[in-house]
Amino acid sequence: MPADLLPVRPHLVDGEALHSYATRLAHANGLALTELLARPLNVGITTARARILSAASGLPVEQLLEATLDRYPPAIRGTAGTHRGGWRLHGAKWYCPRCTPLTGIIRRDWALALHPICRGCGIFLTRETTPETAPAPQVADRELLDVVDALLVLTEDTRTNRQARATTRRLSRLCVLIAQTIDDQWPHRPAKAPLVEVTAARGWGCYPAEDPATVAAVLLAAAPALTSPAAERELIRDGYTRLRHATSVVPRPAPRYRPTRPTPARTRAMLPGFTTADRERLDWLSAQLGRLVTVPGLRPRHIPALACLPGEEPLPDSGVWSARANAAIALYMLVSGLTGGFVAVGFVARIEGVPLPV
Ligand SMILES: [Zn+2]
Repeated sequence: MPADLLPVRPHLVDGEALHSYATRLAHANGLALTELLARPLNVGITTARARILSAASGLPVEQLLEATLDRYPPAIRGTAGTHRGGWRLHGAKWYCPRCTPLTGIIRRDWALALHPICRGCGIFLTRETTPETAPAPQVADRELLDVVDALLVLTEDTRTNRQARATTRRLSRLCVLIAQTIDDQWPHRPAKAPLVEVTAARGWGCYPAEDPATVAAVLLAAAPALTSPAAERELIRDGYTRLRHATSVVPRPAPRYRPTRPTPARTRAMLPGFTTADRERLDWLSAQLGRLVTVPGLRPRHIPALACLPGEEPLPDSGVWSARANAAIALYMLVSGLTGGFVAVGFVARIEGVPLPV
């Protein structure tokens, strides 16, 4: 592994990714990247490896570290270690089909789903690596270029501006919601917007989708939220409505094989002070309610907030209101469970307008 200054030292282009520069540096001197550095620079770089590269290239370590995504806050590069929740692509690598084959240069920010366009060429990036299989360059229209320009500024601002970091986090959550529900009709986007690969879009979760055109379509759909809180609220409202009514929005991967372990014996949880006799009474009550749910069709909405026994009309004595309200909540939750749902106590209390039990 060379630690001395290499004879041929190409210029580190502004905005170039470190792995792109290291590869060009090695090839310019007739070396493989693994002869320069023991491992490829896929994600980041340690200080020790940066010093090796610095000695070989003559560039300061600080300048080399600027060529990595570590210069960005977690709102952009994701959480430490896993890189979840940010904009960093997970596994996929994007290239420009026009300028990368000519120059060998890959931009640092092309590893972020915020930038699916080569701004220099004005065309979509691609996942393809060989010229034989690469699709024809697809030109991005003016509206998309404007969105990408705004996102470039926003990305840089996150380094110093808390508001910009909050905006990118909100935009990230909105893009996940849109990606899970986007189709040909929704959300509204310009007529020249790129086509969406639905499977790729649905894969946008902890990590962004890996298809540049799909990412561009989602960004274009989410762009109005950057300037209009009302548009953001509308997208969130419509997105969640569509999510609730979707039968299957997230394709689940096939389960991985896991060694089977012996199933522990099931035990029923018992609260302190809740005896076996109490459990038997609750089981009896559940069985009775189950019959009422089946035959006359008892539903949670039939449970009154405050039950009156005969002779207590119009209202029972105020001393029993709290106990009756708590009983109504418990009854509501039991019937909800028997009819296939579960409603939290707070939700029940809000619906029925009764105070929470203390
Ligand atoms: Zn390009």
